[in-house]
Amino acid sequence: MSLLGSLFQQLEENEQEIVKIRRHLHMHPELSFEETNTARFVAEQLKSLDIEVREHVGGNGVVGIIKGNHRGKTIAFRADFDALPIQEETSHSFRSKNDGIMHACGHDGHTASLLGFAKVIQKNRHLLNGNVVLLHQHAEEKPPGGAKAMIEDGALDGVDKVFGAHLATDLPLGTINVRPGPTMASVDHFTIKIKGRGGHGAHPHQTHDSIVAASQFVNHVQQIVSRRVNPIEPAVVTVGKFYAGNAFNIIADQAHIEGTVRALNPDVRVMIEKEIRHILDGLKMSNHIDYELDYLHGYPVLVNDPLEIEKLKEIFTSIGNYDIIERNPVLGAEDFAYFLQQVPGAYFNVGARNLSDPSTHFSHHHPKFDFDEAALIDIGKAFLSIANYYLIEGGNN
Ligand code: MN
Repeated sequence: MSLLGSLFQQLEENEQEIVKIRRHLHMHPELSFEETNTARFVAEQLKSLDIEVREHVGGNGVVGIIKGNHRGKTIAFRADFDALPIQEETSHSFRSKNDGIMHACGHDGHTASLLGFAKVIQKNRHLLNGNVVLLHQHAEEKPPGGAKAMIEDGALDGVDKVFGAHLATDLPLGTINVRPGPTMASVDHFTIKIKGRGGHGAHPHQTHDSIVAASQFVNHVQQIVSRRVNPIEPAVVTVGKFYAGNAFNIIADQAHIEGTVRALNPDVRVMIEKEIRHILDGLKMSNHIDYELDYLHGYPVLVNDPLEIEKLKEIFTSIGNYDIIERNPVLGAEDFAYFLQQVPGAYFNVGARNLSDPSTHFSHHHPKFDFDEAALIDIGKAFLSIANYYLIEGGNN
């Protein structure tokens, strides 16, 4: 048996334990920035394997460090561990015990897989030409996110490359999606207060109607993507919140708008923000209103290193029984993007849909979300093959 084959076998021997960890995490989900018990659990797991651990990294982040016996590169692997404000609607014995909180994105699985991988690597650390860093990240779901703070707290110090994986219930088991270049969008969040002058509904000429001005804003921003952005560039401006007014016959003095901006090109991202400010300035003039704009820059565009993707395709293809695909980019966002701004690496998706089991067909963030736990081993194998390539058999490329 090849060395990699033996690493896979060791991982598979731990399958029940990995599933047990996943289910434990699933039963005890915690919201972004509140994951103190999860962080402690992860740190204890690592310590029980005699892995060097740094806790409270940039908040609730936990970093494990496995040093090989020989010199070489340092390769980091990341798993996020926060849950979502969703009431679980599955009937599992291991469903969430925390009311209104659920692991509905699969981060429980990512964490269990990384711990399973860590156990095998730790056992075989004498083989490593270099080191493995385990990035157990808090708060992926909620900007500003955990990744940036972990980086600022030194999580990537000495790291040469970084890899991360997300389970995907829209991909069948045995599929791995790897894509070079911009793969996930930047995300910004704007909050606007339109300040007019209220008054009697029968005397509009004595008022400055905030609802009329805010409605014009909602219409006008539709033209940013349709008329300002080059049509070959993907972008989204969505107004998701709009509220104003207290009574049918009173002109509202204030209107509130919130929305999200997504782009795959940083220049487009900057341009959209500028256009939003232009539109507001125009409305200020023409509608006699004033405005307050709070424009929050969220996660940047996630850009996979093309060279790393080329190598990953080779590595994953050589495993043999995986279907390697290259899907279109999506306008969802991921704070793994911050790690990739610092060092080369890649973020990829691992199929978690069992075609004959409809309970694994729900989308991420759905109250009935679940995935096929066989995918936990697939993430572990993907990470093991990357570690093998860079630190063991591949001669430290
Ligand atoms: Mn997620």
